[in-house]
Amino acid sequence: MMNKPARSPANSPAAEPDRSRKAAVRLCPPKPSPSTSLDPADWAELRAQGHRMLDDMFEAMESIGERPLWQPIPAAARRSMRQPLPSAPTALASVHDDFLHDVLPYGSGNAHPGFMGWVQGGGTPVGMLAEMLAAGLNANLGGRDHMPIEVERQIVAWMAELFGFPATSSGLFVTGTSIANFMAVLIARARALGQTSRGSGVAAAGVSLTGYTSRAAHGCVAQAFDMAGLGSDALRAIAVDDHHRIDVAALRAAIAADRAGGLAPFMIVGTAGSVDIGATDDLAALAEVARDEQLWLHIDGAFGALAILAPDLAPRLAGIERADSLAFDFHKWGQVPYDAGFLLCRDAASHRAAFVADAPYLQRAGQGLAGGEHWPCDYGPDLSRGFRALKTWFTLRTYGLDALGAAMSRSCALARRLEQRIAASDALTLLAPVQLNIVCFGFAGADADARNAAAVARLQCAGRVAPSLTRIDGHTAIRAAFVNHRTSEADVDALVDELLDLA
Ligand SMILES: *Cc1c(COP(=O)(O)O)cnc(C)c1O
Repeated sequence: MMNKPARSPANSPAAEPDRSRKAAVRLCPPKPSPSTSLDPADWAELRAQGHRMLDDMFEAMESIGERPLWQPIPAAARRSMRQPLPSAPTALASVHDDFLHDVLPYGSGNAHPGFMGWVQGGGTPVGMLAEMLAAGLNANLGGRDHMPIEVERQIVAWMAELFGFPATSSGLFVTGTSIANFMAVLIARARALGQTSRGSGVAAAGVSLTGYTSRAAHGCVAQAFDMAGLGSDALRAIAVDDHHRIDVAALRAAIAADRAGGLAPFMIVGTAGSVDIGATDDLAALAEVARDEQLWLHIDGAFGALAILAPDLAPRLAGIERADSLAFDFHKWGQVPYDAGFLLCRDAASHRAAFVADAPYLQRAGQGLAGGEHWPCDYGPDLSRGFRALKTWFTLRTYGLDALGAAMSRSCALARRLEQRIAASDALTLLAPVQLNIVCFGFAGADADARNAAAVARLQCAGRVAPSLTRIDGHTAIRAAFVNHRTSEADVDALVDELLDLA
């Protein structure tokens, strides 16, 4: 890679005459002063150390199930992180030793097969390698004409095809679905109020925008309304049915009531895979409402959208292809290492209209590095952006979509196994219907809330399996979310056995 310029045609013997005519153009810059360059004096030594670091990480990944999932951080390790500003250098090997000793053993455990807390992905060794390559390139994907942006465009095209969006759809990697949802609100807001509102502001528009989602929606949707200057109260939390899916009749009634009250409904946020129990709204019905009412339909499919890769799960996403925008995370069920959130938008022009900005230092050119009409920075608030697309491209290509989908089907089979074990036990009871990969349950009988909370803390400290907590119908529930591709039947059984031991 580093030698590439020396092999380029401009530097080959055939190009010599041209070069001599333009002697002022130096294709090989002088070597930087050794005293200020941060490159090593001895590449061989760095290479050897680098290989050791890579091997250590492979070993840690290979043996992850043999170590505790989580352990409390010892006071000494926490103290080791309180050091004076490092003005002077420390040997790389020594910093790496500190990492091995003080950081690696005290992670949050989401790569561990026993991890079932919250909804988090497990990552893969391939994703790790790709992340290393991306860091080596140090590409900035805000804009300009270079191949890393083509990799991101490839993912956009693939996702448009996968979700049945038009080939002209736009898309962008972001940190996570929280930000992707926020951007969708900004796009819908700009479309509702018009481009000029970006200058004059929301208040000057003189209308009160209202949005609609279900009570089961993730909290980041209300936060997005807050951050968009609409106020979280402008987001109506519509009732759900007993499977935590939005009540479509109640949605229509709420829209009608707001219109009658002089407000301006502008968007619906549907959920594909609710955070608490994995419920998916009737997306086709939401598309009907959005069409009838002329509203922007956004889907929060943070983890659930990629279930489209599993043939047995895909049918429940019917209607997703009619959304105006879709947010999801490759870093959850897609197993891409953190972070890799994504926003897909049906109408690229509406997408750009919410973010495009004029800056003389970002001018586009007909040729050269500043080429290309639309840059990624026209599609979101970030200017400097890392190469999240590369670890995603490697993951999708190396494992193949079918294998990723099969891991998701397996996650759901594990959830059903847990459901069966709960049903077979007198001590445990199910607290919400199992619909996808999440099981909410708890101890039966008196004082269950406190016992559930205490049991989860005990399990987490024991470090074999780690569920988390949520609240279902006012009760504290144990929540086991199966997302990690490493989790197996043995982990489900360990969870139940350890809980029964505590009972
Ligand atoms: C995880 C999640 C989010 C937030 O996504 P981040 O990637 O953590 O920002 C939003 N909605 C749902 C349904 C989620 O599960």
